[in-house]
Amino acid sequence: MASINGDWFHSRSSSNLEELLAVRQLVLESRKLEYTGFNWSGGREGNKKMYKFASTINVEPSTMQTKIRAMIRYGFIKDENQCPLIWTKMGNLWNDLYTIGDFAAAKEVYQLTLTISLVIFAFNNTMEQYSVNPGKGDMPLKFLVNNLDINHAISLKEFEALVDGNTKRVGANISYWKADLINSSLFQEVQENLIYTGKYPELIREIKTFEPNPLLIDEDWKAIRDNPLIEMSPFNKSIRTIFEVISQKEGVEEQFAEDITTFPLINAISEQEEIHIPEIDILNTDTRFTTNTRRVRNATWSIRIKKKYNYLCAVTNCDVVGQIFVEAIHIKPDNTPDGKIPHRTHILNGLCLCKHCHVAFDHGYFSLTDDHKIISSEKFNKIAEQNLKKVILSSVNLKIKKRTDDRWPLVDFIQYHRNNIFKE
Ligand SMILES: [Zn+2]
Repeated sequence: MASINGDWFHSRSSSNLEELLAVRQLVLESRKLEYTGFNWSGGREGNKKMYKFASTINVEPSTMQTKIRAMIRYGFIKDENQCPLIWTKMGNLWNDLYTIGDFAAAKEVYQLTLTISLVIFAFNNTMEQYSVNPGKGDMPLKFLVNNLDINHAISLKEFEALVDGNTKRVGANISYWKADLINSSLFQEVQENLIYTGKYPELIREIKTFEPNPLLIDEDWKAIRDNPLIEMSPFNKSIRTIFEVISQKEGVEEQFAEDITTFPLINAISEQEEIHIPEIDILNTDTRFTTNTRRVRNATWSIRIKKKYNYLCAVTNCDVVGQIFVEAIHIKPDNTPDGKIPHRTHILNGLCLCKHCHVAFDHGYFSLTDDHKIISSEKFNKIAEQNLKKVILSSVNLKIKKRTDDRWPLVDFIQYHRNNIFKE
């Protein structure tokens, strides 16, 4: 591959957080009904809607388009021309964390997203544009990290020669590139030098010798940009490790107790994991595992249970359905001591229930017979008529809904619930 001195393309938009926040406003705006299907990248002249959309962030349409395209390139937004604008997996994580106010974790995800986009960034053959496919061009970050001096540094002068060389764009690109490298936390500026900070050592080691798989096509690279944890992503292992480190950070850890903060992170890992953990009945949740490994396994278990019930509440006459309305619940509670059969992530110790049925089950308002029929508690007599009561009482003596794999919860776990939690 040719040397890539002297002409590093960069769009006229930076990776600074303010830019991402502006695009975040556009994402929200783009979800309004009036913009459904609207082509934000289309012609601007006389396009009233385009002006209106751009006015959301008080800029001209051309500036707005540049900002959105930049965030696509940085890996926050999916590469689509039509509204609504959609976050990538990484963008979504960032947005979730930012929205719930965990700015420390949000910052880590922002830095990681930029790093990944820099890692797989390549110039196409003309070197005037970037390519989503690193196999189709030169990779500036790879080139840079292989050309640092023994102090892991490059002087700004040399860096400028690399970026702008003697092209007509001299001076125009360096500030953007510098901002990207610093925003990603890979480099810091110290006395006229850019110095590698030592961040993500494994990933940086990998990029030094990275050769893109020639079998991967542009669409594959788009998918990797969207979710760098997927199987075909060349860096999925080191990125997964980075995810785990982020979610173990102090503070992040504490808030996790409330199950919100790093939930998006753990979920992202688990969704991938779900495919890989073989479906055996007993998953080891040995306490010698790190808390994080256990979290990933628990989340994996939850996702799997919900899938088994097709996201339907398992109570026969309850019609609640949908990923965000149902929960995977333990029949034998996970905080009870181990019996003969490890129960915490046993695939037959779970039910998919809606939030209301979940509370009723945990409080012993109903349980199951050994042949999986619903039985109800006298406790119901003491509460007023309401929909939940109707749904459960009308389901008594009926079998719970069937799983997609035709298997039923294990009798041992059902008996534990009936004997210890259910109140006749
Ligand atoms: Zn229900």
